[in-house]
Amino acid sequence: MAISDNDPQAATVENDALSTALTQFDDAAERLHLDDGIRRVLRVSKRELSVNFPVNMDDGSIRVFCGYRIQHSIARGPAKGGLRYSLHVSLDEVRALAMWMTWKAAVVNLPFGGAKGGVMVDPRALSAAELEDLTRRYATEISIIIGPSEDIPAPDMGTNPQIMAWIMDTISMHKGHTVAGVVTGKPVAVGGTLGRLEATGRGILFVVEELCSQKSIHLEGSTVAIQGFGNVGSVAAHLLQRAGAKVVAVSDRVGGVHDGNGLDVDSLLECRSDAKPLAECLGVDKITNADLLALPVDFLIPAALEGQITSRNVGDVRARFIVEGANGPTSPEADRILGERGVMIVPDILANAGGVIVSYFEWVQDLQFYFWEEDEVNDRLRKVITRAYREVAAAAERDGLTMREAAMALGVGRVVEATSIRGIYP
Ligand code: NAD
Repeated sequence: MAISDNDPQAATVENDALSTALTQFDDAAERLHLDDGIRRVLRVSKRELSVNFPVNMDDGSIRVFCGYRIQHSIARGPAKGGLRYSLHVSLDEVRALAMWMTWKAAVVNLPFGGAKGGVMVDPRALSAAELEDLTRRYATEISIIIGPSEDIPAPDMGTNPQIMAWIMDTISMHKGHTVAGVVTGKPVAVGGTLGRLEATGRGILFVVEELCSQKSIHLEGSTVAIQGFGNVGSVAAHLLQRAGAKVVAVSDRVGGVHDGNGLDVDSLLECRSDAKPLAECLGVDKITNADLLALPVDFLIPAALEGQITSRNVGDVRARFIVEGANGPTSPEADRILGERGVMIVPDILANAGGVIVSYFEWVQDLQFYFWEEDEVNDRLRKVITRAYREVAAAAERDGLTMREAAMALGVGRVVEATSIRGIYP
């Protein structure tokens, strides 16, 4: 049955982000016995803005870049979600990421809807001045739909606190006064919160700790492999190692490093740079991304990009637990096969929610002009993500569901409730 009236989002490729997101939604909709009307509403984005905009390049030429800002739902509050700079950004990818943001904010019970943005660009190929100009022009283009009460961007792949500061400054210049709450993930000097940079990785640590206590496993000495050594992966590696886990492998876009005795994560952090492959940082074994995903570890943490574990390589996966730092790293088919094999997956919308939770804290602080100590941020993060983990785990246990099924049922259920109570205008 065609659920959507115009069905523009019907992709078919297995590791395509949008088909993964829609399959997960359809599955939750069946489980929740949703009627066709509400399915039609939630299967598509509420608002999609595409922009093509020019940037003056350092060599005197003009290039035109393509970007998006998509709001999937605002039923539970202002739209919230990251901004990605990558050559792989596409309309469908941003649609999927925006939808996942809606469920994620709902699972951890934040008063936000879901959104995502992206610009099709390799930020490493731009000079600092070009990057700033591109960011300020993109911010201007999407300024018609973002704002502290409307839609609040944050960092994602390829973006960082400096980029958030340029967006905040651009919107503030248009308004004539500082609008700190228009983005989160800003530097602390301009209204950012303590703890935001580490928040997603710290959330992963809290989730792993909770999983260990639920399953009576010792985190100390357990083995971890992490794909992606950016904001999410590198912080997770650092904190998990500090908590006593043995981080045996990490990778970035060109490959990674492996040491069965545990890597020196702090040396890797010091040495890491865009120009230098991780493999050149330590005198240990090199490893491909495919090898990393196949390591026999306790915890596999995909923290790079979507579509990494599919029916093609799921047979190689030997981890006991998968904790999804990235959004959408596991295809529905691979998810099903892992479930049958008894491999527990902590899904993205729960495992990587630390970022949006602390973004919420930053937004609250900006709106109140009152800033918290770092301990308070971290304590509140632990409380929110642990409560969500326990709710999801209890529902999974009670209803015989996987953690993803339970998290989706909880998140989608909350959004359906808000959407239904608000009703359809007019
Ligand atoms: P980042 O840009 O800081 O780092 C991305 C990392 O992935 C880099 O190490 C890069 O080299 C690596 N990578 C890129 N392509 C790869 C490939 N093909 N194979 C292996 N590694 C590859 O990005 P990030 O902010 O750490 O985000 C990583 C993931 O986490 C994304 O899926 C993002 O949506 C998700 N996420 C991020 C946040 C956040 O707060 N930043 C929050 C929730 C979820």
